[in-house]
Amino acid sequence: MASTVPHWINGEETRGTSGRDGPIYDPATGAEVRRVTYANAQDVDLAVASARNAFPDWRDTPLAKRTQIMFSFRSLVDAAKDELAELISSEHGKTKPDSRGEVLRGLETIEFACGISDHLKGENSQQVSTGVDISSVREPLGVVGCITPFNFPVMVPLWMVPIAIACGNTVVLKPSEKDPSVSNRLAALFIEAGGPPGVLNVVHGDRDAVERIIEHPDIVALSFVGSTPVARAIYEAGSRHGKRVQALGGAKNHMLVLPDADMDLAADAAVSAGFGSAGERCMAISVVVAVGDAADQLLPKIVDRIAELKTGSAADPTTEMGPVITREHKEQVESCITSGVEEGASLVTDGRGIRVPGSENGFFVGPTLFDHVKPAMAIYQKEIFGPVLSMVRVEHFTDGIELVNRNPYANGTAVFTNDGGAARRFQRQIQVGMVGINVSIPVPIGFYSFGGWRNSLFGAHSIYGPDGVHFYTRPKVTTTRWVDPVDRGVDLGFPRNT
Ligand code: NAD
Repeated sequence: MASTVPHWINGEETRGTSGRDGPIYDPATGAEVRRVTYANAQDVDLAVASARNAFPDWRDTPLAKRTQIMFSFRSLVDAAKDELAELISSEHGKTKPDSRGEVLRGLETIEFACGISDHLKGENSQQVSTGVDISSVREPLGVVGCITPFNFPVMVPLWMVPIAIACGNTVVLKPSEKDPSVSNRLAALFIEAGGPPGVLNVVHGDRDAVERIIEHPDIVALSFVGSTPVARAIYEAGSRHGKRVQALGGAKNHMLVLPDADMDLAADAAVSAGFGSAGERCMAISVVVAVGDAADQLLPKIVDRIAELKTGSAADPTTEMGPVITREHKEQVESCITSGVEEGASLVTDGRGIRVPGSENGFFVGPTLFDHVKPAMAIYQKEIFGPVLSMVRVEHFTDGIELVNRNPYANGTAVFTNDGGAARRFQRQIQVGMVGINVSIPVPIGFYSFGGWRNSLFGAHSIYGPDGVHFYTRPKVTTTRWVDPVDRGVDLGFPRNT
């Protein structure tokens, strides 16, 4: 492993020309483990030129060949899953089983891309008018820019890249600068799978790199996943530059628990979805909405489970919850907890000041639970993105639905109940993009699409699955006549179908 992670352009590592780089930490120790090169505009231009040059041949590469490459890529990523998981854990801090799970979910979208010939089948209608046939096909767009967050350094790039590429586009990927190494590894595996150089390029960096990607005239579409303020800004700026944009943002996911629910199941789900990956998942549950007397049954069960959780380094196989991503983020999460106390929420379990033996400088925050949280409090309103679970008590089921529907975020939500009628009412009345019924993290399988509503997604397309194919292609409709027209001669009237 190089001590400075380079860009990956045209199938080769390059340091670029900016002379800038930044630190990568092991969040479990707080130590800088390596650095990563930051791209300037010139480096981005080089990556875009490589993708643009590769595009015509890749677009014309037969579907059968593209499919074979996707199958090989799938096999290589699958074979490398332990190595990739190790690399994720070393820069992100999540446990190895969690990292492995992320790679497996990423594999689902490569598997979807393996079926690209089926997904790209066109339509054809014959004799729509006398002697006239019509057909519609979807064609690739060109060079696509993909900008991804730190929290799923393999899965989120794989939500985008395999489908964009299988559709015949070429890609410039700008992963998070906090855990960038796995992106280079994926790009190398793509070459090993037979992918031509230039089809998948990786540039690293911060805002400078992203701004050049947004304004570059040869990039025709942008896929972004990250926080809501950046998603909104990228959607607006990308659209201003004439690009097709899908920008997925942050979340504040609620889990409604009705008094008739299986409380052990609900407590398991709340703790797993609230504290898995230290709460740094866009589908994490951050608010448990307890209806009626559900809170009094549920709270002690959650407390018991939190008491059993082991926080620590991913290097320790018994660890269940790792650190958060940076020291700055740890401080932000801790200051949110302090603000919750100041605003009058009941702090049931306090994760501040947790000490992990042997990892004293790691970025750890212990699992934290608040009860009696009110919608006006900052801990309710902010996306904390850490291991902080808030319980809000409401009187009626409909109060819970209204609460969820009023929240500006609308990524995922869940209901826990044994009443099928209530579950159905929830499913129909809830205004959120992804819904779980007794499922706390309803991330759709790879052959469906993933996307929130309101401030959790800007743009008309969800990501991966069928929406991914639509986003990365555009339709071409051809009207054909091969027989002699019945009526010859000039006719300035609008063509009629007769
Ligand atoms: P982030 O918005 O800080 O960064 C995302 C990407 O944008 C990174 O590549 C980063 O380098 C770049 N970036 C950051 N600030 C920028 C700026 N001002 N201008 C241009 N580019 C900028 O997000 P993050 O902290 O890496 O990831 C966590 C966030 O991502 C959370 O809000 C989480 O909910 C969200 N997320 C959403 C989904 C989803 O599917 N909706 C999935 C995963 C993560």
